[in-house]
Amino acid sequence: MAEHRILLTRDRQLLMRREVTHGCYLRAARPEEQLAYLVHRLQLCRLIRPFARCTACNATVEPVAVEAVVARLPPSVRQLQARFWRCAGCGRVYWQGSHWRAMAGRVARLCGEGQPHRPATR
Ligand SMILES: [Zn+2]
Repeated sequence: MAEHRILLTRDRQLLMRREVTHGCYLRAARPEEQLAYLVHRLQLCRLIRPFARCTACNATVEPVAVEAVVARLPPSVRQLQARFWRCAGCGRVYWQGSHWRAMAGRVARLCGEGQPHRPATR
């Protein structure tokens, strides 16, 4: 357990094994419900940093000038977006499109106003 990991499982027998020092049983079957349970049980809202990591390779994502990525953007994105981010690992380019809005909504529902553990604002 040098990495301080927690085993997440719906297998109660697995949690009873001697090797498992930190485990968490997931009662819910649906991933959305499992996520909500874990975020609140482990008090993760204070640690959540949405859009800080690449969804493809998990490297950090940094702001980048539009000129550096314009050639790789679809025309509609070029017209509608002004701010871009690029993965330091694989070079993937991100912007605040429909996927971003959907993910931001998920985070807000999990940790936003009125939730028990709101994320820190910066
Ligand atoms: Zn990446």
